[in-house]
Amino acid sequence: MLNPKSFLFLLCCGALLAQQGQAQSAPARQPGNPHEPAAHPALIEPRSTAAPGLPPAIRSFDPAALDSSANPCVNFYQYACGTWLKNNPVPPDQSRWGRFDELAERNRAILHTILEDSAANPGRSALDQKIGDYYAACMDEPAIDRKGVAPLKPMLDRIAALPDKAALAAETARLHKAGIGALFDFSSGQDAKDSNQVIAQADQGGLGLPDRDYYLKTDAKSVELRNEYQEHVERMFRLLGEAPARAAASARAVMTVETALAKASLDRVSRREPDKVYHRMTRQELVAMDPSFAWPQYLEGIGAPPFHSLNVAVPEFFRGLQAEIERASLADWKTYLTWHVLHSEAPLLPRAFVEENFAFYGTTLTGAKELRPRWKRCVDFTDNQLGEALGRKYVERTFGAQGKERTLRMVEALEKALGEDIRALPWMTEPTKQQALVKLKAITNKIGYPDKWRDYSSVRILRGDALGNAARADEFEFRRQLNKIGKPVDRSEWFMSPPTVNAYYDPQMNNINFPAGILQPPFYDNRVDDAVNFGAIGAVIGHELTHGFDDQGRQYDAQGNLRDWWTAADANEFARRAECFVKEYAGFTVAGGVHLNGQLTLGENTADNGGLRIAFMALMDRLAGAQPPKIDGFTARQRFFLGWGQVWCQNETEESARLRAAVDPHSPGKYRVNGVVVNMPEFRSAFGCTAGQPMVSPQACRVW
Ligand SMILES: [Zn+2]
Repeated sequence: MLNPKSFLFLLCCGALLAQQGQAQSAPARQPGNPHEPAAHPALIEPRSTAAPGLPPAIRSFDPAALDSSANPCVNFYQYACGTWLKNNPVPPDQSRWGRFDELAERNRAILHTILEDSAANPGRSALDQKIGDYYAACMDEPAIDRKGVAPLKPMLDRIAALPDKAALAAETARLHKAGIGALFDFSSGQDAKDSNQVIAQADQGGLGLPDRDYYLKTDAKSVELRNEYQEHVERMFRLLGEAPARAAASARAVMTVETALAKASLDRVSRREPDKVYHRMTRQELVAMDPSFAWPQYLEGIGAPPFHSLNVAVPEFFRGLQAEIERASLADWKTYLTWHVLHSEAPLLPRAFVEENFAFYGTTLTGAKELRPRWKRCVDFTDNQLGEALGRKYVERTFGAQGKERTLRMVEALEKALGEDIRALPWMTEPTKQQALVKLKAITNKIGYPDKWRDYSSVRILRGDALGNAARADEFEFRRQLNKIGKPVDRSEWFMSPPTVNAYYDPQMNNINFPAGILQPPFYDNRVDDAVNFGAIGAVIGHELTHGFDDQGRQYDAQGNLRDWWTAADANEFARRAECFVKEYAGFTVAGGVHLNGQLTLGENTADNGGLRIAFMALMDRLAGAQPPKIDGFTARQRFFLGWGQVWCQNETEESARLRAAVDPHSPGKYRVNGVVVNMPEFRSAFGCTAGQPMVSPQACRVW
């Protein structure tokens, strides 16, 4: 739901597909998270492969996945992944299928056995009751179908009875508390300029499509998608019981209101600029900015702790919201709120709603052909809403103490390499280098799972009440976020659940975070040589460290404050070098000609390029001049690059590729591989490539 963190730099595939009704998503009821759940033990030994009942481990580097008929100097991605790509089409219930997803599926299977076991033994412990009953209620489709939309009735009746526009504020508060996104987002977050403080944050929101651009772009594909969205909204109102003409009018009203909110919203590329989403205001200034919206009633309604000032991320949005509240009729606002209730709750409503929701968010937007089996969706819901309860069991089952130790040693090797890289940078002056090293030294790391687990004891979970459980879990989370306002920052908190196959750098905490879920094959594998592991998990760690120094991350200092520590000349040189990446990646296309957005993906591309480079340096340091014998016919240097390449083997539907090109700050797998190796002379010499070949860039880009 309402984004607790505006800036978290993920390794992969973030929370972008707002509500795809299928999986991996952010808000409210829509299952999945800024990640996709993962698999098993990793950096760990025997328990991983030996434990009974666990699915077999994924392979890390796999010679059988190569396409040896391809030339690595012409298309390295094809060489590293060609046979895998041929043998692993996107499954019908997915929109993208890669090695991340293989791991996520394996992990999901483990979570499944945990949840089935807890559901069968809810009396064993409070934890079993919580996750077991949540999962069982979600799985009880007959009970959900029997109830129909009755569980929503009190909420819908309340909306229908709103007496005037002044009542919108209190109603929005009630919806937000229940995890239903509408109008805008409200939560808490670290103050960008005083990272020790948590302040209230109000931000743009309230859309049903994945991005503002979907409402505003005029090309044929965008117009078509918009029409399909409107038809979807109309069908949802018909399922609720509205007559056809009325439902069509309702959908038009929703479209009009959301288009106004979209126009007032800041675009995704601008939002990457921390200064553009930081506007500290007093509470009175906020109230005065939106006289038509009863902020005092809203703030009282959500139970916000008292505060004097807050961050209004995008003031223009709230001015636009104000204008739209005045313009649209009360009836239109009621329709809009009703839609967002339906939209948010759809995945836990009767089958017809689930299928209609999937038809648009799953099939039309992402190209998935089949709804995922219910158990997968319910596993993801549980992970999404009770992540540290389920994650605790997951960790007990899979992640050994050695996992932390080994990852730590790897992190140290990468930090050392980044330090050497900074010291040796030809383009940066000494004063900025000193500051960069101070920041590097201050980076802390979190590995595996939290030191103290979140306490869900106050969340009431009941069998036979899937929607109620979800609403109560959302309310718990909403309050948990609000309760941070005015308090010191809790640096031990995690923003991903332990089974997640992902990682992140948090610029305001200045820390890197690696959930247990990713610390295993194909990212880390005890059974293979250092070269492959440095190319995979080593480069992942390098990627996260580099985020502290990408175009966004570099704007924060060692304490996580938005503060410029660069000399003007070095900042200019950074920008000039970053522009090289912008141009390089903007030249890549997906889905029959859609160009990547070089600005949107700049931070991730910088992190990929810096990450692989320092991982290579760390490997060289580890090898200390030794030339290990070839394995599978490859030198250590070649295996390093193959380790990276195979992490990103990935097939994707055209719809998903198009969507991600619009909203995902990460480049697709092919370019995360080829886009990086073309810039590395180390790759060129490892594979004996020559100038003029496609994998040797005549203008190699380099920042770090
Ligand atoms: Zn990243």
